[in-house]
Amino acid sequence: MADSTQVRDITAKLEQGMQDLFNSEAYAKYLQTMSRFHKYSTRNTLLIHLQKPDASHVAGFNSWQTKFERHVKKGEKAIKILAPIPLKITKELEKIDPITQRPIIGENGEPIREEVEIKTARFKVVNVFDVSQTDGEPLQSLVQDLTGNVEQYEAFVDALRAVSPLPIEFEQLPEDMDGKCIFGERIAIREGMSEVQTVSAIIHEIAHAKLHDLESLRLMSENVEAKDRRTEEVEAESVSFSVNSYFGIDTGANSFGYIAEWSRGRELKELNTSLDTIRKTTTELIDDIDSKFQELVKERNITFAVGDVQVGLAEPTAKPPEPSVSHANSEILAAYARNAQVSCDTLKKAQTTG
Ligand SMILES: [Zn+2]
Repeated sequence: MADSTQVRDITAKLEQGMQDLFNSEAYAKYLQTMSRFHKYSTRNTLLIHLQKPDASHVAGFNSWQTKFERHVKKGEKAIKILAPIPLKITKELEKIDPITQRPIIGENGEPIREEVEIKTARFKVVNVFDVSQTDGEPLQSLVQDLTGNVEQYEAFVDALRAVSPLPIEFEQLPEDMDGKCIFGERIAIREGMSEVQTVSAIIHEIAHAKLHDLESLRLMSENVEAKDRRTEEVEAESVSFSVNSYFGIDTGANSFGYIAEWSRGRELKELNTSLDTIRKTTTELIDDIDSKFQELVKERNITFAVGDVQVGLAEPTAKPPEPSVSHANSEILAAYARNAQVSCDTLKKAQTTG
């Protein structure tokens, strides 16, 4: 059984890892790149979301080339937004007395009129493109592909399948998408990733399925409020990091960067407001996975060699070794030295087919 102190220790490790990341050079560099992206107005953000719900980084055709050394792929459909063209127009208005705030009457008994310059804007349609519609130099990113194997991988994945609210299917997905959760339908996981990255992606999507499917949550309770995308991604990845960490699988190199990219800033507002949810979901998942895994191990007569990391068979006296914070961090730093690769996922709403 996962006790609450253990889960608390793991989330403390997560918070420490995040703080270290925010103080790193990699984060400073990341912010520098991100500052080259234009900040869109609320209206344009909405327009972008309506046309491409999974858009993450948006820029104009030429900006992709000049600022990011990437180019828009042939045949990609532009996202249309509105750009203001500032205009000055002159208008004849009644002259107002600044004290009485009433029109000033001239000698002829009529209000005096004056020409006033008014600043206004017209709007023109501008084409922009999401990073997924472009090719070229990798975009500066904090997330890192994970390498390495998971002890008793097959049995562990089967345990994950058993506890998942949705069926899990492996398929070809774009390079920058590790998995996606299609509510009410299935979880899709990209084929060909390392075992550690696969397990990490599956738990991330299971967390989405358990926490963010509004339609099914509202069947159980009426007062479920929609969360914003940032909060959802921070929650899913924090659960994934915590569950993996319990089973001795270190996903820090990917998780810390992913959470940082989805957080609004160093204050970790999304993480702090979600800690209770993250701990509760983590505890539930650990217990479910652990008991299912032990069942499968027994069924399949799997024996662990002496000295093996006993994934999932966590007993109070024989806990799987958990990487210390400093160890996790040195790994992240080493990972930064290698080429960073963008990796993110998409939360796609199930299509209503009636
Ligand atoms: Zn996600």
